[in-house]
Amino acid sequence: MASSLFLSSQGAQGGRKLLHSAVLACLLFCSAVLAHGAETAQPAIKVDQVGYPLDGPKIALVSAPAATFEVRRSSDDAVVFKGNLTAAKADPDTGDKVQAADFSALKQAGRYYLEIPGVGRSWNFAVGPDVFEHTYYMAMRGFYGQRCGTAVDMGPEFPGYSHPACHLHGEFHPTSGATGIRDNIGGWHDAGDYGRYMVNSGISTGTLLWTWELFGKKIKGISLHIPETGNGTPDILNEARWNLEWMLKMQDTDGGAWHKQTSEHFPAMIAAEDDKQLSEVIGTGAAPFKSTCATADLAVVGAIAARVYQPYDAEFAARALDAARRAWAWTEKNPNVTFHNPPGIQSGEYGSDSCLDERLWAAAELARTTGEAQYSGFFLKNYAGFLPSLDSPPGEDWKSTGSMGLWAYALSPRKDVDANVVKVIRQRTVAAAHAVVERTRANPYHVSLKADDYVWGSNGVTAEYGMDLLIANLFQPDASFVDTARDNLHYLLGRNAFSLSWVTQVGENPYQHPHHRPSASGRQTGPWPGLLSGGPNWKRQDAVLAALPAGLPPARIYSDQMASYASNEICINWQASLVFLLAGELP
Ligand SMILES: [Zn+2]
Repeated sequence: MASSLFLSSQGAQGGRKLLHSAVLACLLFCSAVLAHGAETAQPAIKVDQVGYPLDGPKIALVSAPAATFEVRRSSDDAVVFKGNLTAAKADPDTGDKVQAADFSALKQAGRYYLEIPGVGRSWNFAVGPDVFEHTYYMAMRGFYGQRCGTAVDMGPEFPGYSHPACHLHGEFHPTSGATGIRDNIGGWHDAGDYGRYMVNSGISTGTLLWTWELFGKKIKGISLHIPETGNGTPDILNEARWNLEWMLKMQDTDGGAWHKQTSEHFPAMIAAEDDKQLSEVIGTGAAPFKSTCATADLAVVGAIAARVYQPYDAEFAARALDAARRAWAWTEKNPNVTFHNPPGIQSGEYGSDSCLDERLWAAAELARTTGEAQYSGFFLKNYAGFLPSLDSPPGEDWKSTGSMGLWAYALSPRKDVDANVVKVIRQRTVAAAHAVVERTRANPYHVSLKADDYVWGSNGVTAEYGMDLLIANLFQPDASFVDTARDNLHYLLGRNAFSLSWVTQVGENPYQHPHHRPSASGRQTGPWPGLLSGGPNWKRQDAVLAALPAGLPPARIYSDQMASYASNEICINWQASLVFLLAGELP
């Protein structure tokens, strides 16, 4: 409100004075309203704290007994909608009895909250045509904040959220089969630590490039206010290239890619610029030193990059394709060199027993880019074994990329694809999506997660369900797929048992204490913005979760504490799934 007053009153000097008092009054009033909301909002009333698209379903959830609800306009508390709550449904995953408040019939854009007699009020939320655009912006800015090897500054929206260039010196670790300096400056810090890992970079960067390829029209015009903004390339591609350039540097002259570049062990909870441990290129410890999963993931992103950057930078597109071809050739000679942390290395492992799924994805992307039989032949020889991964979504993550490979093939616009194979992939994806829709409708919290989905990174699993549904919607458009994907987004943005927005600095009640070294360093007053928390984890894989009361249902095993790395860490792979989901839900 303050900014629109400001913009509409730039004219006369007298107006400026009036404006100042108006802005001041508004600031006082608006912050009073916000403070009022923040003080009295009841966690038992769960809303998407970002909001609800104008034309879609609009549902809030209530975990305290009540009968009716009102939707009130935030600016003047006027009642704009009244309704009855549905009958309570018991939710074993949270232990809550949940009622729904359906105000889908409210079709007027604005800012609102729910008032429930006997319970209280909710946090404020928006209803409008493009409610998720700013959250998309924030989530992409989250990647910018993870940039390594360059000074980062989140700008006037988040003053003081900056750091000088970090990790500018790198060397080969003895396990890499090489010696000496290898700076490899760039890339994104992977998660709450400062490591850079090829395998997780692959799924994250690949997902962002897909976001562009599938939803480019929706996001083309959204500026991310990053250093490259205005260079003629869409900003999501500018941001993805920051990591792609680092991935390309991880390729050896023989075509193979080293698995990761990290310090030997995780640093203390210090700012990036204070981490003085050596950044080391780490290999398998024995010939051929590079790993197949890392190399295949490089082939994946190189092949996609060759397509998507072609209109903006043909030289870079060609360089990416050349790297992808050489990476693929290396995996043909070394089809399954797996990675395990060598002795003395304690950073993240990102290990996998089989790299066939990464190779399948690489073959599909290379076939789609080049049309060459060597790639499509490999895909057609190996795809069938991965079809079951489509039946129980979400079938994809950094470790299991088979469904990404299948979808890459089925999404290809080439005329030379095998139509029967495409048909099978599409049918199985769509059938699974229908089952997810039915399950989500039956879930009292309207989330697609099953009890055993509340694992490390369950919020990423939630976003991946959204990805599955939106991809199914590309194969066979169905409003229920889009609505159910959005249900999962609503869960992440506050419509959950904790009434927490799980994206930092988004919504009126976001989580505050990510396991994230820059946020924990004490250099800034709050968490770095735009970052998705890992979410509830029934396996209790850290001391904070282990100390929670016995008998808690799975969706409640979460703690907004920095020390809970197993439920509250941020990570680029689930961040990328969030971006995909947000972009897909834009108009
Ligand atoms: Zn760094």
